[in-house]
Parts: sequence; structure tokens; C-alpha cells
Amino acid sequence: MRAPLSLVLAAAILTIRPSDRLSAQTAQSYPSTANRLIDAALRDSAAWQKLARLTDTFGHRLSGSEALERAIDWMLAEMRREGLDSVRGEPVMVPRWVRGEERAELVVPRPLRLPMLGLGGSIGTPREGVTAEVLVVSSFADLERQAERARGKIVLFDVPFTSYGATVQYRGNGAVAAARAGAVAALVRSVGPYSLRTPHTGGMGYDASVPKVPAAAITSEDAAMLHRMQDRGERVVVRLRMGARSEADVQSRNVVAELRGREHPEQVVVMGGHTDSWDVGQGAQDDAGGVVAAWEALRLIKALGLQPRRTIRVVGWTNEENGLRGGLAYRDQHAAELTDHVVAIESDGGIFKPVGFGFTGSDSARAILREVVRLLERLDADSLLAGGGGADIGPIMQRGVPGMSHVTEGDYFWYHHTDADTVDKVDPRDLARSVAMMAVMAYVLADMPTRLPR
Ligand SMILES: [Zn+2]
Repeated sequence: MRAPLSLVLAAAILTIRPSDRLSAQTAQSYPSTANRLIDAALRDSAAWQKLARLTDTFGHRLSGSEALERAIDWMLAEMRREGLDSVRGEPVMVPRWVRGEERAELVVPRPLRLPMLGLGGSIGTPREGVTAEVLVVSSFADLERQAERARGKIVLFDVPFTSYGATVQYRGNGAVAAARAGAVAALVRSVGPYSLRTPHTGGMGYDASVPKVPAAAITSEDAAMLHRMQDRGERVVVRLRMGARSEADVQSRNVVAELRGREHPEQVVVMGGHTDSWDVGQGAQDDAGGVVAAWEALRLIKALGLQPRRTIRVVGWTNEENGLRGGLAYRDQHAAELTDHVVAIESDGGIFKPVGFGFTGSDSARAILREVVRLLERLDADSLLAGGGGADIGPIMQRGVPGMSHVTEGDYFWYHHTDADTVDKVDPRDLARSVAMMAVMAYVLADMPTRLPR
């Protein structure tokens, strides 16, 4: 039976009304609060000073390292000192992969040290290393075409960067493809669009159906050179030595701090990034900057004396890089509260020129967010893009929590997972603007009269 027209209209009005109400709210009361938050964020370089203290004091923060746990201790102590609510470390067991000593050398046609980084999760080589002829391939399909030539060799995937998602396949799956063809080790061209002979590390995987072989990244420059040598018909021999190993899981923590909501404390807007990093550089862009942007946003909201209707919770997830155990543990430890999670916002794409936010959720929520991002016009950060999320919030998004990503635009993949990911690569102005973006978005979503619909 068809519903009477009056019921259909009533339903339509009910679905429209929240955004109308919010439009009125954002138009009338939120601009002044947003401007106060933006002014406070842009006033000084407090966020950058905090980021520099974190990265200079503790350095890189691989899961299972003492540096990560000391950085977490410091964050928790600072958050308590700042008077944030419910500051705590939520325990998470994380994998511990240790790089050990490593070295790659070109042996033939001429001796040359090749800057390299073993890939996270790789096994090591025997102590004397693996010395073998190199077969350079341009793709997985290229390897398949010459599979009979790969046996006993080191396969090098020389695949230039197109997009991170496409090119990272070779880092993640190269060792399996090489081993399937009978190779003794895998090398990949570093995943990055530009290089100053900087190798990039990152996670990789094995498949139980083929033997594990050691895997490492060399620089774009050297991968291209070995490729040219092969194309000229020269024999290329490389010696690879890696002391990499995996040890037993150890305990880490997700860092949590809140500003308790005044009307609906059980309803939560979550925002954050990951505290862990690879064991190179300082993990400043990936992802200390994202964590500090969210943390400073919360501190500023509190410092201005604002208390939104709902709770804002900042989370520094642990073990994003080589396990995602922090994001998975958060999902499980908060399973009973997930229906009360209004939205989750992750900043894990670097801190560069502000763009706006990506969003994954319902059309009715998107209509409201289109109004909210207008509050960020003066930061040039008022874009609302399709497809938001992040690795750490992925597990709760799968349980129905709408997801947002904080989006900036810059040369993230020049530095990503390299020794060059240091705090000087973060512009203090960009970080201040990111703090402002996160503060305005989190505050409005936590305070607007009607909860963001799912
Ligand atoms: Zn990251």
C-alpha cells in the first residue's frame, strides 16, 4: 500500500529539517566562535613548538620501540598538565620488527654503495648476505613474461611513481611475486615522485604459499641506473645484507584525551592521527603533525572556555604503520559506544597547504558539512571532497561511523617513510591552519543542536 501523501511529506520535512536548523545555526552563531578559534590558532607557533619538542626529543617511533613508549608517556603527561579530561593510555599489543644492520652494494659492473632501506616486516639475509645477478622488471606483468629468467636472481621492480595506491603494490607484494618466480630477494624502486637519492621504507607482506625472501627499497636514481645497465646488455650483480627480524609482540598504548560534552557526554566526535612512525627520520609529517594538529585543536577549544554539547575525543593511535593494531583495538575496546560516535576525523596525509575535508557518509550529513566547511573559507580550507577516512578510523567506519579526512596539498610523498621526514618539512603556518581547521570542524560537529545524521 502506498503511504498517504501527508506522511511522505512529513518524512521529507523531517529529513530536511536538521540541515535547515544547522544552516541557521552556522549562519548566525558559529561564525564568531569559528573566527575566535581560527584567530587563536594563527596567533602563534605553539603547535609547531609542540611538534618540534615531540620529534626532536623522541625521534622516530616504530612500534615496539622504547622511543614510541617514551613519546606516549610525554604526551599523556602534557595532556594532563593541560587539564584535558579523561587522559589515558589504552593498552594495545603491537608487533616488534627490528631492522638491524643492513647494506646493499652494486658489485658488477662497478662497486658502488646503494642507499637502501629494508621493508618493514622483511626477513633478514644470511650473515654473509645474498649476492646475485639482478633482473630488472617494469611491472608484475613484465616479471611474468620473463619468469624463467628470475630463478636464483634478485628481482628489482623499477616502477616509477604514478599514485601512491598504484605504486605501493610493488612494495607490498613485490617479495611474493619475486619468490613465486624463484628469485632469492626482491628490491623495489622507492615509492615517491621525487628523490634526492633518498630510499623510502614501508610495510610489505608475505604469502604462506611461497618462500619468504628478503625485500628492500633502493633509490629511484639507482633503480633507473640498474635498469639502464640491463638495457645496454650489461650484467648487474648486487650484494644485499640485512639483519632484519621480527620479535615477540610488546605492549603499546592508544593515547586518549577528551573535552567532556555538557549535554550529551556519551556522544563522541573522535579526531586524531597515529603516534607511531617508521624507524627513519622523525615521522614528523607521518604522522606527528596530524596528531599534534588534533591535540592542539582540543587544547585551544578548552583554552577559549568552550564546552560543546557532545564530547570531543582526541586519539593518537599506535601501530598504524606495521599492523594497524591501534585502530583495531580502539574498535574492539569501544565496540559498545560506536553507535554514539558521531563522526571520526583522521589527519594522516601530511601538513601542507590547507584544502578542506574528505567525507564518507550519508547525503544528509554531507549537506550539513557543506555548510560547516564554509566557516573555513578564510583559511582557504572550505573544500568538502568525496571519500574521507584514514587507516586508523577504517575499522570503526566499517561499523558505520561516518569518516572524515583532514586534507592538505603538498609534496608529502617526497618525505614519506624517509630519513628526510623531519620537523623542518612542516611549515608552522600550515600547522597552525590545520589546527584551526580541526578545531572548527570538531567543535561545530560536537556542538550543533542536532546530531550529524548517519
Ligand atoms: Zn601515516
